Amino acid sequence: MSHQQHRLICAAFAILVSAAASPAIAQSGTIPLSELPPPPAQIADLIDRGNVRFVYGWDTRPDAKLPDIGRPLDGLTVYELSYKFEHHTSLRNRNSSPHAVTRIRLSESGLRCKHTVWFREAPRIETFWSNPLVLHELDHVLISSDPRLASLFLTQVQDQPLITPIEASSYSSAVAAEVNRVAKEHVATIYRSILSLVDIRYRELDRVTNHGARPLPAELQLRLSNSQPTVPQGQ
Ligand SMILES: [Zn+2]
Repeated sequence: MSHQQHRLICAAFAILVSAAASPAIAQSGTIPLSELPPPPAQIADLIDRGNVRFVYGWDTRPDAKLPDIGRPLDGLTVYELSYKFEHHTSLRNRNSSPHAVTRIRLSESGLRCKHTVWFREAPRIETFWSNPLVLHELDHVLISSDPRLASLFLTQVQDQPLITPIEASSYSSAVAAEVNRVAKEHVATIYRSILSLVDIRYRELDRVTNHGARPLPAELQLRLSNSQPTVPQGQ
């Protein structure tokens, strides 16, 4: 089995900086779903599909390089997409033009996703599911947990067998190594194209909403944050 995992981030930034002094020692921790009010059905599905956990406070901030835009960071979403695959190879035309035919199979879990949503300060529990910052971060989760990404990945990885011309007429360790390399590269290339699709949509979301501070334009109104009245961003 080969394994690959990648992490990318979304960053949300505060527009309004609270004038109140921060406590000297910031609290950190996780926000268990069991402590939150039951989410609306649409969000419950998303949390489940996106394998989302919520954390807050300095100590839990994901280790990520963030752009410095000169204002405090209020929240961020880190997504991880991972996959495992195996391949089966047979040799053809051993005498004339030997080549290996490799079929790739993803593990049953396919393209798996996992999200960590971080907040500088824990949002209020009572209004958690209508908090604009929470909804903005969940809009990111909506993008990177889109089931269409997993099915696109699956189709592209598995649809066609790989043909690798080889010199040997028997299955040597050199042939195995070459087949492995070709298979890994094939899957990695498709994986990178999936990541760039997510990346483009993450950037688009942050650009059009100024990291959640503005409502989405009408043509993009399929996201969670637009189901709520517009409220200025900031904690
Ligand atoms: Zn964002």
